Amino acid sequence: MSLPPDYHMHTPLCRHATGEPFEYARQALAVGLAEIGFSDHSPMRQDNFDNWRMNFYQLDEYVERVRKAQKDFPQLTIRLALEVDYLPGQEEWIRELAARHPWDYFIGSVHYVSDAWAIDDPAKLSEWNGRDAFEVWSAYFDRLTLAAESKLFEIIGHADLPKKFGHRPTGDCAPLYAKFLAAARRCGCALDVNTAGLRKDCREIYPSREILRLAFQHGVPITFGSDAHAPQEVGMNFSEAIQLARSVGYTECCQFKQRKRRLLKF
Ligand SMILES: [Zn+2]
Ligand SMILES: [Zn+2]
Repeated sequence: MSLPPDYHMHTPLCRHATGEPFEYARQALAVGLAEIGFSDHSPMRQDNFDNWRMNFYQLDEYVERVRKAQKDFPQLTIRLALEVDYLPGQEEWIRELAARHPWDYFIGSVHYVSDAWAIDDPAKLSEWNGRDAFEVWSAYFDRLTLAAESKLFEIIGHADLPKKFGHRPTGDCAPLYAKFLAAARRCGCALDVNTAGLRKDCREIYPSREILRLAFQHGVPITFGSDAHAPQEVGMNFSEAIQLARSVGYTECCQFKQRKRRLLKF
């Protein structure tokens, strides 16, 4: 049994990551991965939407950079993907992006709970002040459920992102989780078991053991991701992620090729 693929990593095109794709690929081989996928932050229809994603005119360049890494590292399977922001009303744009290249998968992520606030943006941390954490978690999971139901994504990214800075819900979120996971199951979405949370204030993998246990019970499959924004983060903390996934019952994860799913033992 080998390490699961690392399906969540970025490139400098998103303006907050360092290192070229070949450096991520080299690190993947060094840590014993057989498969990775680049999933950089997708462009929005308006390039000035925010400042932490590639511009639309860079999309072809992104694809070329990933293709180059594929050619330079034939011993490593490298998938071509995007981490796409889900906001209600963006569905048509996401379909246009999907049609532009032969992607292997899309990770659908909710960062924005409104058009103006990405809850994980350190520059917007003060937005949390004076808000009820449970209301933010509710709004977030409502969007996450819509993201799953949109059927635009193979994978749902870092499913409990609102915990990033340590804001914990003050109410019972179990019904929100159950509704989201039922939608994920129904619509064929996998969950991104994402080790970046260990490097944030919450010091915990996304999603929590509670959510992952429920996900297994709901029959929702998983992928693994480091969410690397620097080469040395590739495959980081995968042993903890594997241990967590195994502890709630998982023995398989998903592999995606041209948006088709297979299961792999890990
Ligand atoms: Zn990022
Ligand atoms: Zn993300």
